[in-house]
Amino acid sequence: MFIEIEGACEQLENFLIRLNAEKPPRCSIQSLESTWLDAAGYKNFEIRPSESSGGKSTLVLPDIATCPDCLREIFDPKNRRHLYPFTNCTNCGPRFSIVELLPYDRASTAMKKFAMCPQCQTEYDDPRDRRFHAQPNACPDCGPQLQLWSATGEAIFGPNGSIPAAVSAIRRGKIVAVKGVGGFHLLADARNENAIQLLRERKHREEKPFALMFPSLESVKAVCEVSPLEERLLCSPEAPIVLLRQNKLAIRDPEFAIVTSVAPGNPNLGVMLPSNPLYHLLMAGLKFPVVATSGNLSDEPVYTDEREALERLGGIADLFLVHNRPIVRHVDDSIVRVVLDREMVLRRARGFAPLPVTLDSQLAALNSRPILAVGAHLKNSVALAVGKNIFISQHIGDLETEPANNAFRRVIADFVKLYDAKPQIVATDLHPDYLSTKFAGESGIPKQISVQHHIAHVLSCMAENEVVPPALGVSWDGTGYGTDGTIWGGEFFQIADMHIERIAHLRPFWLPGGDKAVREPRRPAIGLLYELFGDAAFEMSHLPPLRDISPIESSALKGMLHRKLNSPRTSSMGRLFDAVASLVNVRQQMRFEGQAAMELEFSLDGIETDEAYELRIADCGLRIEKPEMSLDWEPMLKSILADLDDCISVGKISAKFHNALAEAVVAVAKIVQEPRVVLSGGCFQNRYLTERVVQRLREENFQPYWHQRVPPNDGGIALGQVVAALREQA
Ligand code: ZN
Ligand code: ZN
Ligand code: FE
Repeated sequence: MFIEIEGACEQLENFLIRLNAEKPPRCSIQSLESTWLDAAGYKNFEIRPSESSGGKSTLVLPDIATCPDCLREIFDPKNRRHLYPFTNCTNCGPRFSIVELLPYDRASTAMKKFAMCPQCQTEYDDPRDRRFHAQPNACPDCGPQLQLWSATGEAIFGPNGSIPAAVSAIRRGKIVAVKGVGGFHLLADARNENAIQLLRERKHREEKPFALMFPSLESVKAVCEVSPLEERLLCSPEAPIVLLRQNKLAIRDPEFAIVTSVAPGNPNLGVMLPSNPLYHLLMAGLKFPVVATSGNLSDEPVYTDEREALERLGGIADLFLVHNRPIVRHVDDSIVRVVLDREMVLRRARGFAPLPVTLDSQLAALNSRPILAVGAHLKNSVALAVGKNIFISQHIGDLETEPANNAFRRVIADFVKLYDAKPQIVATDLHPDYLSTKFAGESGIPKQISVQHHIAHVLSCMAENEVVPPALGVSWDGTGYGTDGTIWGGEFFQIADMHIERIAHLRPFWLPGGDKAVREPRRPAIGLLYELFGDAAFEMSHLPPLRDISPIESSALKGMLHRKLNSPRTSSMGRLFDAVASLVNVRQQMRFEGQAAMELEFSLDGIETDEAYELRIADCGLRIEKPEMSLDWEPMLKSILADLDDCISVGKISAKFHNALAEAVVAVAKIVQEPRVVLSGGCFQNRYLTERVVQRLREENFQPYWHQRVPPNDGGIALGQVVAALREQA
């Protein structure tokens, strides 16, 4: 069901929060996604008949968090489902993770091997029962059962003793692998420094923040600041990980004191509440927050099968809490952040996948043949367009490892089968060497369309916001293959009905060491300095990027830049962020993707200033009629160096840098004169940047759009690729 409402911002926000609390009795919301659209000028209240979409594209629902009724039953000693970890009903329970085929019947789910007992069958057949046609319906007599396994796979407890034993192990600092709804999690006491260090060591995860599961909303509020919208998200049927600000002022209850190594140097925590009965029962036993991180080795998809988990996680987990309900497909936890009082999905998986994005009628009319889009390379997800629906797959991950590539192929085969579609067009990234691109080439799909990475970002954001051309697209991220073969990432596009033109970009610079530069912020910093000062850059040893560099490394970099060897040109905004992080000495070595830029954002916390460096807009004369513009960072770099000399604080420099980027967007918008400005790319995961750009654009009477349901990062690329392919059909 779609509800469109119009009104003042505050009323709309309230509607979203009150919807669940004040809905009629016996009515349940199984999933709720919201998008803010432009006002349509409605005059009356109207109920319109549904448009039947027909065919198999009818929805597969995402997995739904345990409903209040089921929750009451599992904690009711008199109920026959007391303490039963697989309790569900028509309003809640697993869906996407157990469906094998459509239509959605028990016989085509992972529940087919469990024959319902007479009592369950009666519920299932009774139209007045809450479990009428609840496909995963089960009870302790007939449904799936738990086991607790040792690290070597021996069953040490059965249905009754497993949860208490797992609880007691976590209390003692052990790491327990738990088979959840869409895959395994690794659980460890978030208050126990040794347990967290052990988990980091064993998982080879140095500093990347861990997600947390809390026993209750109250316990979350003891540790984090929670706004009404954030509260709605935490308690929603999607039950995602919500990025929350740690409450520094709270008097810390030692029961909830999270150790800093959970999220080193990070003012936020990724927090979720239990979303299935098993986790409710575990958390009720624990009563304190635990780390709940994906059960995988880095760059591999989350494991779904207990034998696979045992083999791959054997060196990490001390115990395995498993069960015999198969997981048909992996579904990670989703990650959501509130930006500008709206939700922004950063990782789209459990609770959201595979809900479609519906095309506006203009684009839908062009869709006659099924289109498969294979996404990019990092944070990969794929999309399948059937009719007016674009189904976006669950998050797959970085296609860096063999298991990740297998998961990518599996998800595509699965989607094609699930929706009974035979793709006639495959849309890929322009990068010829991406594994996703190579896959498309070998797929046998008759027509292949390559889509420039940053254009896909912008089209993705336009599609979910239902923005039709013309518009100005701002596409900022770390890396994407440009049409000129260089690395792009600080791009502006003019999006017209038929044409898309790159109209401005960040002034390019050398990136010594290519891929290595992604892990070492000092490399882009040295690239910038070299561009300005040539060899003299290497004499500037008072500057952080060159301060602790060894003479060997220094001369190696110098040689590379001299001979332009292994030093691609780039206009990447992500690398500019890294360079500034290196110049102010926030970070010289990255432990995970995006770390330097994140820390640069965190450093401006509490600083309030409108001061901005200057990014000069220069005509770089590439085009004849309308000059292509370049955003020249030279005046900014010189001012940063001067500020460093004057011992201006890191936070202040960071704020002036972020503000400069916002002013640059406004300046380009003023030249281009498109009222609508669309913001996309991984850089717009940065809350300060997004809020500042939106605020400044609004002040200058532009209409900014940003991502809500679809990630601004490369997880949103597949949607944009579909739209680009559709535009080619026009
Ligand atoms: Zn339920
Ligand atoms: Zn039963
Ligand atoms: Fe990107």
